[in-house]
Amino acid sequence: MPSAARTTIDAIEVSGKTVLVRVDFNVPISDGEISDDSRIRAAIPTIQSILDRGGSCVLMSHLGRPSGNGFESAFSLAPAAVRLSELLDRPVNLPSDDCLDDASRAAVASIGSGEVILLENLRFHAAEKKGDVDFAARLAIYGDVYCQDAFGAAHRADASMVAVPQAMEGRPRTAGRLLEAELKYLSGAIDSPERPFVAVLGGAKISDKLATIRHLAGRVDTLVVGGAMAFTLLRAMGHDTGRSLVEASMIEEARAIIDAVDATPTTLLLPVDFVCAAAPAAGVETTVSGPDIESGLMGLDIGPASINSFSAAVRAARTVVWNGPMGLFEIPPFDQGTLAITNAMIEATIAGATSVVGGGDTAAAVNDLGLGAGFTHVSTGGGASLRMLEGGPMPGVDTLDLA
Ligand code: AMP
Repeated sequence: MPSAARTTIDAIEVSGKTVLVRVDFNVPISDGEISDDSRIRAAIPTIQSILDRGGSCVLMSHLGRPSGNGFESAFSLAPAAVRLSELLDRPVNLPSDDCLDDASRAAVASIGSGEVILLENLRFHAAEKKGDVDFAARLAIYGDVYCQDAFGAAHRADASMVAVPQAMEGRPRTAGRLLEAELKYLSGAIDSPERPFVAVLGGAKISDKLATIRHLAGRVDTLVVGGAMAFTLLRAMGHDTGRSLVEASMIEEARAIIDAVDATPTTLLLPVDFVCAAAPAAGVETTVSGPDIESGLMGLDIGPASINSFSAAVRAARTVVWNGPMGLFEIPPFDQGTLAITNAMIEATIAGATSVVGGGDTAAAVNDLGLGAGFTHVSTGGGASLRMLEGGPMPGVDTLDLA
């Protein structure tokens, strides 16, 4: 498990130097419009810190999943360059449609202090995802300093995350401010929490969160599990779950994980009731029942008694981490459980607790409600934050010189 960065970009002399910054500009774009620019905004403190101190920035990122056979306009970072330029209030040069061609190399070679270049989508080269060392060596030429600020991709071993900093051995390889904050809150919360320490897990599949449950068992005081993933656990305990989402192949594993948690001091808090309906749709008739659900119904959100017990556990926490919605939050009224956890976490934060929201769906839900500022930290990385909650490897962090 990586710990909080002790040496970050702010500790590196960047005046007159070119900093090759791996950012995560993997933003949602449709018809050339960015619908959520929070990942671009999240990179601004690092970029500004470099520019303010007389450095220049060569930014590199991936966007989506192009085929890897060259430029595809649907995956161009051009809209991100425009948005970044607006946010920085200075020009951002996207020199070419290929991060390694003559135009890109010439632009980087003549970059001046205070200037910003954004290279085109790294994944236009299949070599990026393959972690290719020759591709990485060509990118590595671009920087005097390597700065990693792409937390959302830090659990991956793509070339720009691992092979590029490896190729830059001997030059400073450091974390940007976003990565520093993510590591501080995600690993800080888990490694040295103020207690009570409560984790709230939800979402569709227990199979995605088994490693997280295993890692948190014995570390947290209370493990709250909602969302559809709770049904596989309830089925393993012998409850009827009606037509709710259950991962049938995981029931045995679920029983084993309940026993594993029981063997630790961690209390497992499961829903006792659900908002149920015959179909997952808006405007359907709903009933509250549980913990058993009759055969024709699906549990689509946690019910009022569960909201009470979950909210009380969250409000009592001094450290609380959350990953995964409590129900089918995209369709009201099945958003109430997720909303209740949001509010309880904000109350806990006001009372002095450290609150951390994992990225992905949960962060999007909180940000869509306009409530992100109510938490201590809302992560920008879905898979990466889950990897940290699992205590798994973070290849994009391990190659940095953070000692
Ligand atoms: P995940 O990607 O595993 O975090 O799962 C998120 C998805 O789980 C969201 O789209 C939710 O709508 C869905 N979800 C959570 N709880 C339920 C539920 N009780 N029934 C159906 N879908 C659910």
